[in-house]
Amino acid sequence: MDWSTDNKWKQKAKEKKKVYKRYLEFAKEAKVIKQLPAIHIDVFSKINCLDCANCCKNHSPTFKATDIKRISNHLGLKESDFIEKYLKLDEENDWVMITQPCSFLNTDNTCQIYEVRPSDCARFPYTNEDVFIKRKALTLTNTGVCPAASMVLDTLIEKG
Ligand code: SF4
Ligand code: SF4
Repeated sequence: MDWSTDNKWKQKAKEKKKVYKRYLEFAKEAKVIKQLPAIHIDVFSKINCLDCANCCKNHSPTFKATDIKRISNHLGLKESDFIEKYLKLDEENDWVMITQPCSFLNTDNTCQIYEVRPSDCARFPYTNEDVFIKRKALTLTNTGVCPAASMVLDTLIEKG
């Protein structure tokens, strides 16, 4: 499937939002945390992020102080210059990209700073972490951004 052009998953995820919300509300966290690693591997074996990049196009990662330091070093910029050029503070006082799609996204969906990308990018959509079941509002939002997040929830719901 060409994830960059096929937005059927988005419609499906939108229609299932109430089902996802209810599942997240009542799911047994310890059980889900045990189920997640295998489901994460299975779902990402079916999705190629390079065919998608929906997160990089529509959703900014947050940049922690360590991310800013590492990426500025990599780019040979002073941290203050990096911030001025690329970042702004959002309503939660987190540093996020000024532009979307992300300034570091190449036209072939690769990332110009892949080796030093923000930890938020490396971890997104948190399908292999307890964050996925603990931060329910975030996971629910991510089902509208990331097909993998909604596929993981679909599988969890199927497995019961
Ligand atoms: S993490 Fe999700 S939204 Fe981002 S490229 Fe991969 S499948 Fe797409
Ligand atoms: S830094 Fe790289 S991985 Fe992160 S949003 Fe930008 S292009 Fe995507």
